[in-house]
Amino acid sequence: MKSLEEFISRAKGAVDVIGEKAGQFVDVSRLNVKLLEVKSQIKSELEELGKIAYESYNEEQGIENKPEISAQIKCLKALYEKSEKIRLQIAFMKNKILCKTCGFNNEVGSLYCAKCGENLKKEGAPIIKKSEHEEDDFVEFDD
Ligand SMILES: [Zn+2]
Repeated sequence: MKSLEEFISRAKGAVDVIGEKAGQFVDVSRLNVKLLEVKSQIKSELEELGKIAYESYNEEQGIENKPEISAQIKCLKALYEKSEKIRLQIAFMKNKILCKTCGFNNEVGSLYCAKCGENLKKEGAPIIKKSEHEEDDFVEFDD
């Protein structure tokens, strides 16, 4: 049988990992991971589309209009929509001021945390804003 102390320390560890303080931070990085996954999925599906188109080509008709091509394009459209949604979500979450004390996402321009009253302009309080540089990284599939 496990000791009570062991159980408590385990429970504490679990709370630290999924704790409120890191909550919003974890969500943005999770979304970034998700976005990267979708991006690599788009890459491989585009490759697959190229392969299907290549294999559907013949000298007389050019690219034959196979149902696989439309299906593949539909799949890609869904993936592009998905990546757009994730990007919007990330931008939405980043255009906030995260409270260092309680992890609450405050509206840009807030001076104090709406949840715990922490001074958000205080030195060291991370101000997470939409960064144009980071945004650029997310739009590479828009062309
Ligand atoms: Zn707060």
